[in-house]
Order: sequence, then C-alpha cells, then structure tokens
Amino acid sequence: MAARRRVAVVGGGIAGLAAAVRLRDRAPEGTEIIVYEQSGSLGGKLRTGELAGGPVEFGAESFLMRDPAGGESAAVALVRRLGLAGRIVHPTVGQAALAVDGGLRPVPGGTLVGVPGDLEKVATVARPTPEADRDGGGPLLGPDDDVSVGALVRARFGDEVVDRLVDPMLGGVYAGRADDLSLVTTMPALARAARVEHTLLGAVRAAQAAAPRAPGEPVFGTLDGGLSALVDAAVTASGATIRRHATVRELTPTAAGWRLTVGPTRDPEHVDVDAVVLAVPARPAARLLTEIAPVAAKEIGGLDYASVALVTLALPEPTLPQLSGFLVPSTEGLLIKASTFFTTKWGHLRRRDGLALVRASVGRYGEEEQLQRPDEDLAATVHREISAVLDGPLPAAVDGHVQRWGGALPQYTPGHLDRVAAVRAALRAAHPTLRLAGAGYDGVGIGVCVRSGETAAEEIITALEGSGR
Ligand SMILES: Cc1cc2nc3c(=O)[nH]c(=O)nc-3n(C[C@H](O)[C@H](O)[C@H](O)COP(=O)(O)OP(=O)(O)OC[C@H]3O[C@@H](n4cnc5c(N)ncnc54)[C@H](O)[C@@H]3O)c2cc1C
Repeated sequence: MAARRRVAVVGGGIAGLAAAVRLRDRAPEGTEIIVYEQSGSLGGKLRTGELAGGPVEFGAESFLMRDPAGGESAAVALVRRLGLAGRIVHPTVGQAALAVDGGLRPVPGGTLVGVPGDLEKVATVARPTPEADRDGGGPLLGPDDDVSVGALVRARFGDEVVDRLVDPMLGGVYAGRADDLSLVTTMPALARAARVEHTLLGAVRAAQAAAPRAPGEPVFGTLDGGLSALVDAAVTASGATIRRHATVRELTPTAAGWRLTVGPTRDPEHVDVDAVVLAVPARPAARLLTEIAPVAAKEIGGLDYASVALVTLALPEPTLPQLSGFLVPSTEGLLIKASTFFTTKWGHLRRRDGLALVRASVGRYGEEEQLQRPDEDLAATVHREISAVLDGPLPAAVDGHVQRWGGALPQYTPGHLDRVAAVRAALRAAHPTLRLAGAGYDGVGIGVCVRSGETAAEEIITALEGSGR
C-alpha cells in the first residue's frame, strides 16, 4: 500500500486555497493537506468586512466571468465546484466614468482596457493619432517579444490615449503605470493579436473578435454575501488542516521531500511533508528559496509591488450619478486613482437605511509616501476629492474604514512571463515536488490566481505519482 502523503500549501490566499481544493479533488484518497497562513485570517487579498452594519469588500471586489483565453474563468468554475453558483451577482450599473479636466466623462465603449478598437468612440476623452498606426509590413510584436503597454499605445495612438484612457484603466487594476507594465502579462489577448496584426487598431479588433461578447453578457461577478464566502467554502471543501498565525520561515529539502520550519524563531516547529505548493507573494517566496535555489530566488525577488489603501465611506443619502464609479488619470493631480459607488454598482448591496457606501483607492506605484498619512487624513482627502469630482459636497460620512494593502499589487515589467517560465523550469528540474502559485507569477486576477493554484496542485500530484512514493 502506498504511504499516506502529506502536502503543504504555504499561503492561505485564493491561489493556495484553490490548490488545496484541487489536491483534495485529485490527489489520492487519504492525502493530508496542510495550509499554513501567516496571518490570522485566510483569503489574502479577499476580505469581506462590515461597515455601518452592512457587508463591503475591504480587498478584491469581483472576478471576471470569462477567462482571457476564452471560456468560463477559473474563478467561476471554482465557485461552481463549491456550490456557490446561485450566489453569483453582477453589477446593476456597469457604466463607469473618467475624471478628466475636472469633470466626469463616460468611459468610452469598444476598448480593451482603454486601448480603442474604434478611434471615434474615444474622441470624447482623448485625441488619438491614427496616422501613426501605419502598417509597417509585419506584425506589431515578434514571436518572443514583449513591450510595455504604454510604449506600444503611445507609438500608435499617441500620448493622450495612454494618459487619459489606458493608464487610468490599467492603474485601476495594478496601481501601476502603462509605461512600465508588460503587454504580454497584463493584456494577453491583445499581445496574441499583436503577434499577427500589423496595426494596433487591427490587433484590438482581432482580439475583440476572438472573444465576442453576447449583448448584455456580464463581464464581472461577485458573490452575494461577499467574496469571503468563497474563501470559507474553499477551506471546507479542501478538508485541509488549517494553520493560522503560522509563518513558514524555512524550506529544506530532505531525502523524502521537504522540511518546513514554521512559527517564531525562539520556538520553531519542524514539519516533514512530501510536497509543497508555495502560494505566497514573490518576495516571501524568494526569501524561502534563497538557500535552495538562489538564482530563482533572485529572479522572483526582483518583482516589484505597489501599495494601495482602500478608503470606504458610509454616506447618508448622497446624490450620486448613475455610475459604477470613476477612474482618475494621474495627470489630474488627485490622490485618489479610482472610486466605486458600491451601493449603486451592486444592487444586492443597496440598503434600506439609505446609506451609500463609496470606496476609493489611493496609492500609485512609486508614490508610497502618500500612504504614510494617518487614516483620518486619507478619509478626509478622499471625501474632499470625490466631492470636487462630483462638483458638489458629499454629506459627512457616518462611518468609514481604511484598509491598507502594503506591497500588494505586482508590477509585471516586459518579459515577466518568460522570466517566470525560466524559473519554473529550473525549479521543476531540481525540485519536482515544489511548485509556485499565485499573483506573483501568472497574473493578478482572482481567476488567474485560482488557475495558478490548481495547476500547481496538479503538477504536484503528477510529481508524487512519478516519484513512486
Ligand atoms: C486592493 C486590491 C483589490 C483587488 N481587487 C481585485 C478584484 O476586484 N478582482 C480581481 O480579480 N483581483 C483583484 N485584486 C487582485 C487579487 O485579489 C489578488 O491578485 C489575489 O487575491 C492574490 O491571491 P494570492 O493567493 O496569489 O495571494 P495573496 O492573496 O497575497 O495570498 C498570499 C497569502 O500568503 C500569506 N503568506 C505570505 N508569506 C507567508 C509565509 N511565509 N508563510 C505563510 N503564509 C504566508 C499571506 O499572509 C497571504 O494570506 C485586488 C488586489 C488588491 C490588493
């Protein structure tokens, strides 16, 4: 009879939990799964909180319904697997705006994260330079090339399209700059099309045609009750032993697998396991790999992260436009980079007491010093800036919450996916029972992180089968 196996999942974010569920579903019966989470709560950047007596997301808010490569997203598939499909809800108000020139203009339709597929449609916000998007006789991007989104779009459509459209939309997701972020990692569908098409307009249209949307098809979904419901259900379904307040500080290869050093230095615990899914952000992963795979550790540890704070205010009956929220280009000189009218956007969150929840995201890559301000200062600034954008003072908040996410959003520079592939290949060859998963590698979205965890779990199962142990 095969020995009972033990797999450690280090990191209890959504990638680690998705890995744990996949291990439970596909690993041989009796496999012991242990999730180690350094903090007191699971879910990582998924955290549903409460404000003024109602639920609100203090971290990630929603998932993409579709996978960028087509088909249902891995987040939706996991939700189904966990029996939560009946709780998926979609935004009731989908139209967002851009705060430009001191006012709000609707985000133009027909773009891919702000990159236009119809230049006329974006004229309300930016003046593109169609003459620059000439057919140069070959594809925009070579087969192995990557480029920053900003560099490509600036060269083809001009600065305004980047500064007033693409940058705020990408910044809303990554808190980073279009000029730094990798096209291949952040906009994979456009990158694929750019390897074939000769113009950017052609590439955007090809990418859109490759994944046509049915009229009214929802782009985003979340769960009634909050995304922490996904976390809780994953924990239950995984049947894993959950260790909270359990920082894994060392990983040491042994003849049979791995020895984990867990907990405080003065009172460490040593645990032997057959395999490890390392589902922590890149920097802690790099620290754990320094001794055993120094080159991989250096490569992974080079990934930079942006810090953000989410400020949520509960406002008594404010007059808000029928918008899901707005994005702010960095050229507007405001601290806030995006605001979500939570109770307008999500009908299931509307409240009988008339309170509106308005959330703003603060913090751009490279401007971390702005986040040093005290909570009250951030909340007051958010209140003042949203009032200015809406051109009328908001009522005083009856409650508020500031959630800081230090070093939370990976800044994938061009070549990121190639670097990750090289690191993974080297690790696989040297340590087949160790796998990397999570936002530090494959992409930032919840669905991508779920898939990353599931893939790591499957590779571990295959490696353990191959080892004959
Ligand atoms: C403010 C914000 C809003 C977002 N909004 C959205 C959104 O609406 N939609 C979307 O798709 N994506 C969103 N994202 C991105 C998405 O939430 C994250 O990319 C994703 O949740 C990351 O999951 P993960 O499991 O890879 O990492 P994490 O969530 O970071 O989880 C990693 C876990 O590992 C633990 N850990 C670290 N080191 C150790 C150690 N040594 N030992 C044990 N445990 C350790 C950490 O405490 C953490 O819990 C948002 C991100 C942020 C920051």
